[in-house]
Amino acid sequence: MKIAVLGYGASGKAAEKLAEFFGFETEIFDEGQKLGCYRADGAPDYSECDEIVVSPGVPPKSALYRAALASGLPLVSEMEFGFRYCDFPLLAVTGTNGKTTTTELTTHLLQKLGYAAQYCGNIGNPLSELVLFKRQGTVDKLDVAVIEVSSFQLERIAAFAPYAAVNLNVTDDHLDRYNGSMMEYSNVKFSIFDRITDRDNLFLGAMMMRSVELIPEQYRFLLEQSPAIQERDGVITCHGRPLLRLDETKLRGAHNCENLVAALSLVEAFTGAEKLCSPELIAAVKGFLPGEHRIQVVAQHGGVTYINDSKATNPASVLAALEAIGGDHNVCILLGGLDKGMDFSSLAGAAEYVKAAFLLGQCREKMFDTLKDAFPCHCCETFSAAVDGACRAAAAGDIVILSPSCASMDMFKNYKERGETFVRLVMEYIRAGN
Ligand code: ADP
Repeated sequence: MKIAVLGYGASGKAAEKLAEFFGFETEIFDEGQKLGCYRADGAPDYSECDEIVVSPGVPPKSALYRAALASGLPLVSEMEFGFRYCDFPLLAVTGTNGKTTTTELTTHLLQKLGYAAQYCGNIGNPLSELVLFKRQGTVDKLDVAVIEVSSFQLERIAAFAPYAAVNLNVTDDHLDRYNGSMMEYSNVKFSIFDRITDRDNLFLGAMMMRSVELIPEQYRFLLEQSPAIQERDGVITCHGRPLLRLDETKLRGAHNCENLVAALSLVEAFTGAEKLCSPELIAAVKGFLPGEHRIQVVAQHGGVTYINDSKATNPASVLAALEAIGGDHNVCILLGGLDKGMDFSSLAGAAEYVKAAFLLGQCREKMFDTLKDAFPCHCCETFSAAVDGACRAAAAGDIVILSPSCASMDMFKNYKERGETFVRLVMEYIRAGN
């Protein structure tokens, strides 16, 4: 048995090692790294292979992927391949926004309740790697893993069946990959539920209640169910019993409340209500802070608050930030970057919060055309000019935020580098005595 692995990044390497652990031959294909076996006409040659495992980073339009589809061989995602050998339960998190926060929070809560829990998938180790570590004994105890699942991993699944799953929300993002169709994108996200047998273990993020048209017919019954974990007037309840108040936590914004309800729902599904209502759990929720680059206050100076939200790479995450932090026209925002075929017009809905926008990167002209009538917009040639413009526009009581609504790869390696650059430039601006 020989397995073709497409893409040789972290996921592809993990699939390769897992395949070899089980005694399979492998052939790696990666066009960028010039790996693989190609025919005279340049097309990949899968003729020696029995199955193809594709990494999430390989685009469906690439020659490798198209040839894989045309080959007629079984084609599965790295996550599906890892799942085949997975001997621990998985709690799965998908959605356009909030996956990492919810995955980290769920893992944190389980660990504080005494479970050997780890996160994996889109963050941490790819599933194939965690499975390999468990099989090799590198990880000796693992009660449960929380897996962050992107739509790319869900595109090629066959048997993937987590114990419980949440789909947090489906909003405009990655549509370049789904023929511009929200329904196509949503169907892929909802396929995370397809093989979960216990209907009580399927969870919708609160935002899905506001986008019912995107819920496939077979999952509409979830709208009728009364979930164990609910939030009302700032109080989280479990089966009607008050657990804690949101203002006792470090979580800011309605979106983080939705993430918390999702995390608690997964934990409750796994541990039962008794453990969920324990003092250990309440203390663990209170102690949790979302990761860097997510509405992260990085400085306060001269009455101005500076916030790094570089991870906001689509309009819904920007709106979530503005609703969480914004006041009356007091936000100077840096927007823009690499366009993924998104419609930015919904950002006009946050006009009440925005004092001025400083537009960056590849799609700044498109953003300018879409938003110029909603609030003052300034196109900036460089990232530092945008930071400088936003800092100068802010007065005491205002907020300067990088919440770009776009990917970063037109100007940076990734969102982390973009966020770190923002923080450095803000610090320089403050130190220069401005
Ligand atoms: P993901 O892993 O899905 O990208 P993150 O937790 O890393 O999600 O958050 C990405 C961005 O989305 C951040 O800017 C964050 O503030 C925002 N965000 C987090 N949760 C939500 C949510 N439930 N709805 C909308 N935006 C969110």
